[in-house]
Amino acid sequence: MNADDLDITDFTDLSKFVKKGEAPPFPLVGIVGQQVMKKTLLLVASNPSIGNIILMGEAGTGKSTSARGLRDILPEVETVTGCFYNCDPRDKKALCAECRSSVAELVSFTKKLPLLEIPVGASQTRIFGGFDSQQRLKPGYVGQANRGFLILARANLLSPETLARLLDISESGTHRSVSEHGDFSHPAKFNIIATMNPEDGELDTEILERFSMAVKVQSIKDIEERIEIVRRVEAYRQDPVDFAARNRREMEAFSQRVKRSRDLVARVDVPKKVEVTMDKVLKEVGQDSDRVRAALVQAAQANAAFGDRVWVTVEDVAEVAELVLGHRGR
Ligand SMILES: [Zn+2]
Repeated sequence: MNADDLDITDFTDLSKFVKKGEAPPFPLVGIVGQQVMKKTLLLVASNPSIGNIILMGEAGTGKSTSARGLRDILPEVETVTGCFYNCDPRDKKALCAECRSSVAELVSFTKKLPLLEIPVGASQTRIFGGFDSQQRLKPGYVGQANRGFLILARANLLSPETLARLLDISESGTHRSVSEHGDFSHPAKFNIIATMNPEDGELDTEILERFSMAVKVQSIKDIEERIEIVRRVEAYRQDPVDFAARNRREMEAFSQRVKRSRDLVARVDVPKKVEVTMDKVLKEVGQDSDRVRAALVQAAQANAAFGDRVWVTVEDVAEVAELVLGHRGR
């Protein structure tokens, strides 16, 4: 086998191969290399307060596959039975109108946090919701993804208006729609995991800078690693259920770790000394806005919680700084 036989576009085809619900997604831990991309996904799963993230790189580098592969790592959470918006029965302030007005005690069960993907070409109504011919509200992806994650593959191919609207909703945590057919409002607290191939076209700087973290994904050059990728993709194609089963133990370990980090992250303290370092870094690169500062703090806190600590170190800041700052204009 030589390097030319190993054109790793295989990942691109996996989504077609995995028809809805028929096979488990390619597990995140099965991705060869790409440590920064994998870690960033784990950080946002550990601390949704980070906000939205984007994975940038050429086709076939496993961006979308990694995003989808996060699904089986996401922890199970308490969810109101039958609620489209996955309401948390204990978070009374964030309940949807239906759960809030329920006269009966809310019944709940545990299920994995949602991870949904907006398919290319999805209608505005499917994405944002609307009313059917009987004037019944049909909420869209932005409602269904509440408390979870929404994958936007090739986000730079979406219309800038749609992308901006999705970012607005995600940042506010609520979706309010006013139209001639009627008004509605529901919780829509989700994190966007966007991917883009710069060869498809650039994103507006203004849009790009709204992402809290951006990963610049490089294709793998190492021949051994490329052979390993082909081997794993082939094994997955042969039998995705068996491939997922072989990775289950490791996936479960990460799932537990993410769950623990989510519980821990609210208690993570930023010592004065570290705050001073952050200030210095932000001033040096001329990115002293509240938005960027918040992203840096949340990312560093996530990194600390993921490392099982309740205090941020200078090393945490160093590890996430490029991801928070690297895509911003200087
Ligand atoms: Zn609800």
